Parts: sequence; C-alpha cells; structure tokens
Amino acid sequence: LQNDQLHLVYQPVVSAYNQQIVAVEALVRWQHPVHGAIAPSSLIPIAEDSGMIVDLGRWVLQTACRALRSWEGAPGLNSLAVAVNVSPSQLTHRGFVGDFDRILSESGVQPSRLLLEVTENVVALGDDMIELLSDLRSRGVRLALDDFGQGQTSLRYLRDLPLDVLKIDKAFVDAIDASPTDEAIVHAIVDLAHKLGIRVIAEGVEREDQLRILRGFSTDFLQGYLIHRPKGEAEMAELLGVSRPGRPTAVGVG
Ligand code: C2E
Ligand code: MG
Ligand code: MG
Repeated sequence: LQNDQLHLVYQPVVSAYNQQIVAVEALVRWQHPVHGAIAPSSLIPIAEDSGMIVDLGRWVLQTACRALRSWEGAPGLNSLAVAVNVSPSQLTHRGFVGDFDRILSESGVQPSRLLLEVTENVVALGDDMIELLSDLRSRGVRLALDDFGQGQTSLRYLRDLPLDVLKIDKAFVDAIDASPTDEAIVHAIVDLAHKLGIRVIAEGVEREDQLRILRGFSTDFLQGYLIHRPKGEAEMAELLGVSRPGRPTAVGVG
C-alpha cells in the first residue's frame, strides 16, 4: 500500500439472458518488484492475520468507487454496480461503518451501486454482525453471499442473513455438465434462492455446456472466464464503451 504496488482488476457479472454487464467485481492484485505477482489467496489471509486488512479493504473500496465514477458518462451505465469483497475482520473493526460512509460520500457513489460480498464465516461472528449487515442493507447497499457451497455451508445462512444475491461457488459450477448430482444440487440451490427472493450468480463459468445448463435453471447472472476475464480499469472502460459514448452496453443489477 505504501509503495503503491497494489492495483485492482475488475471481472464483469453478466445477465444470463442477454449477456449485458450488470456489475463488475473488484479483485485485488499485488505486483511485487522482486517476488512478482502475489495471489489474493496468499495476500488476503496474511492481511487478515496482521490486521492490515482494514487499511487494504479501505483502499479497495476507495479505488473501486473511483473506478465506478470514472466509467460513468456512457448511456446505460448509471445503474452499473461494483462488487467488493469484504473479510469478517474488516466488518468487526469498529471504524468500518464510519470509513464506509465517508468513502461513499467522498466518491459520490450511491449505496445501491455497491454489492458487498461476504462469505459464510461472517455468521460465526454472531448476531451483532447480522445486525451490522442489516444496517448497511437498510441504507441501500446490496449484499451477496460469496462462495456458497464451499466450506461450512448451512441453510441457516440463507435464513439469517439479509441477502440480495447468492454466488454459487465455482466448485459446484465446475461439474454441472459432467455430474448429474452436482447438476441437481445447483438446480435446487437456484430454485431455493428464488423462492426466498434472492438472485443467483454462478461463479467460474468456463464452458458453453455449463452456460446452457445454468440458463436452463433460470440462473440470473453469470461470471467466469468464458464470459470475461478480470480486466484492468482502462480495459474495463473500453469494454463498457465508456470511451465510445452512444453504445449502451450495461444495465443494472436491480
Ligand atoms: P472470489 O471473490 O470468489 O473471486 C472469484 C475468484 O475466481 C477470483 O480469483 C477470479 O479471478 C477467479 N475466477 C473468476 N472466473 C473464473 C473462472 O472462470 N475460472 C477460474 N479458474 N477462476 C475464475 P482471485 O482474483 O484470485 O481472488 C481469489 C479470492 O481472493 C476471491 O474469491 C476473494 O475471496 C479474495 N479477494 C480478492 N480480492 C479481494 C479483496 O479486495 N478483499 C478481500 N477481502 N478479498 C479479496
Ligand atoms: Mg467475490
Ligand atoms: Mg467466490
């Protein structure tokens, strides 16, 4: 952070019906001058353990909000959402809500343009955390449960968390075109989420067969290398048609 070695890449989330971009997920990258690219799977746990996740998370939110503002201006982009991953240890930091409000008001981003991605382990933090998430959501922020199906998945999370979106983990999406069991599980998850009024993003879509099956289940949104790989800010602007006004390329998540 101090040496300015971090940057964000953005991966589009598209509507399963018309492939229009509804949101972009911000993903952190660390390009170290000696050690090269350091993956988030190494960086994030260390940042969490050392407490640096608070500063890192603040920087991610700030940078993602600025990027969102920089993409505005082209027709159709006024409801594009930016998805930001937040760790439980960020949420438990007592300055979180204050930082959050300040960053949004400084950047001029409406809370409804933000999709916060949390994982199931936030529930382990107890009722206070559920209250905090409900509070954020009452300001208009959208809430997604990331990596659903991985780890300690429990249906309790669907009941207790104030969710707008469920992201089905790549591990389940991976085998839907090869395993009837996985196909049945994903189908049931999509149906259950819809019955609860929750929309579904399938993560890690890599093949046409997966795309076809997911559409058959009425999955709402898709994300994966087949559709778009994560892109730098400028490349994202080009994809969104920001540099070429007049080309409507994106609609909103809500
Ligand atoms: P995630 O939030 O579930 O993000 C999806 C991960 O899957 C990303 O990896 C993305 O690049 C990758 N991915 C997307 N589509 C495909 C696909 O079709 N095939 C394959 N093989 N992979 C795909 P990435 O960027 O390495 O991030 C890994 C995890 O690190 C993220 O998982 C998230 O939990 C965490 N992370 C990343 N950035 C941040 C951040 O700013 N803050 C926090 N707290 N966590 C972050
Ligand atoms: Mg995520
Ligand atoms: Mg995920």
